[in-house]
Amino acid sequence: GGSLEVYAEIKRLIEEKGLLAKVELYEEDKGIGIKKSGCHGFCEAGPLVRIEPDKFLYLKVKVEDCEEIVNSTLVEGKPVERLMYNVGDKVYHEQEEIPFYKSQTRVVLEHCGHIDAESIQEYIAYGGYQALAKAIDTMTPEEVCKEISDASLRGRGGGGYPAGKKWSQVLSYSSDMKYVICNGDEGDPGAFMDRSLMEGDPHNIIEGMSIAAYATGASEGYIYVRAEYPLAVARLNKAIEQAREVGLLGKNILGTGLNFDLHVNQGAGAFVCGEGSALIASIEGERGMPRVKAKRTVEEGLWRKPTVLNNVETFANVRHIIMNGAEWYRSFGTKGSPGTKAFALTGNVNNTGLIEVPMGTTLREIIFNIGGGIKDNKKFKAVQIGGPSGGCLTEEHLDMALDFDSLTDAGAMIGSGGMVIMDEDTCMVEVARFFMNFTQNESCGKCVPCREGTKIMLSILEKIVSGKGTVEDLDLLEELSDTITNTALCGLGKTAANPVVSSLKYFRDEYLTHVVDKK
Ligand code: SF4
Repeated sequence: GGSLEVYAEIKRLIEEKGLLAKVELYEEDKGIGIKKSGCHGFCEAGPLVRIEPDKFLYLKVKVEDCEEIVNSTLVEGKPVERLMYNVGDKVYHEQEEIPFYKSQTRVVLEHCGHIDAESIQEYIAYGGYQALAKAIDTMTPEEVCKEISDASLRGRGGGGYPAGKKWSQVLSYSSDMKYVICNGDEGDPGAFMDRSLMEGDPHNIIEGMSIAAYATGASEGYIYVRAEYPLAVARLNKAIEQAREVGLLGKNILGTGLNFDLHVNQGAGAFVCGEGSALIASIEGERGMPRVKAKRTVEEGLWRKPTVLNNVETFANVRHIIMNGAEWYRSFGTKGSPGTKAFALTGNVNNTGLIEVPMGTTLREIIFNIGGGIKDNKKFKAVQIGGPSGGCLTEEHLDMALDFDSLTDAGAMIGSGGMVIMDEDTCMVEVARFFMNFTQNESCGKCVPCREGTKIMLSILEKIVSGKGTVEDLDLLEELSDTITNTALCGLGKTAANPVVSSLKYFRDEYLTHVVDKK
């Protein structure tokens, strides 16, 4: 998006004026430091430049703006108001006052956009690795598992399974080897929460995984990242190297006698590898296809050893729970789904970007306050939540408190947190066709219902979109949806029909306008 060019130009100008700080943390020589952070979240307005300690946030910065930023702000201490967020006459000087940020509660994203993601010193300076130290120094593994259970932390990758329960189960099995895996194979169209966390705060993931390893007795871990995220892969590898250098990973961690080391495993582009058993097969060097599981991953996971498998955002919560306690964590969100949730807000909304809100926040708050409403003053029509496994929500759901359970009840799911906003001009049949095309392409072909069923559903949707469908086709879509959901082997197939089922439920009239024999 041009950020690297802006970075290089500001650095050149500061250097030219002899103002560039000479040490990494800028304390001693009072110079001006410049760093590359992870994503600030306000994607719509990038490239973004934040000035510390003033908290100024400059939007849509171009190379041509850099000289003014350096001269006015860094030399004279004055804001460049034309680059700041404004509504009418009101100019928002501080980043945290901008409505997009003000209504958010950033817990897992607290460091993203603020710290140098490639510096372990900076992570430590901001309190990093204190939770790991606290867990090892003052808590037994059982107590760590209990704290996570008491916090009711639910897996952020889709299903919402209680993380503490998983950890306690892995702890309960005795084995010569146990593993911790972080699922960073985020493949939903329109989702980029895990990417931002891995790029913007990689040590947070490592710390969460290290705490899980201590709590369960695991000595080796893998972060499975899709190869389409090269910056995440590079930053995670760098962070692992840094943690090894200071004795936070490897053998005899900080002289405690504990061993835990981590590896990054790159996926090769298959969406189905986000499914646990396919991901494990892929790490084992097999073709990344789901397996029929005789036993659960907590008992027989990677190389048939007890394994903790959680996603990126789940691990990113762990540090906060250990430092602040389960009660603090439960003070956010709803009773059944405590904590916050990161969502990728995309589609026909003014402020696209990465957001984090307490569970239980309404769609109205997200779309109209944080998101700034629908683009071009159009009418809101629907939101596809949870990617190709999720479903759509409509105007009637705008005031519903979003959490794991309310979304399931409404026929959608949180999934990993992709939120695609659609306006009045969107054709919902075309949306269903888009997601079915995606799922059909990504079906691994192992089981008949998904392999054949998604293909037939896609062909029916294509027929309807092209105006050649019939009312009987709608019945057939419903019948196939039912069969695939009930008989497919893995989550990809079981949820493949969701976008069709929910759009048929809420927008049947729209389907009927497409068919030839309207009744
Ligand atoms: Fe493969 Fe689909 Fe069957 Fe899953 S449901 S195993 S993706 S064919």
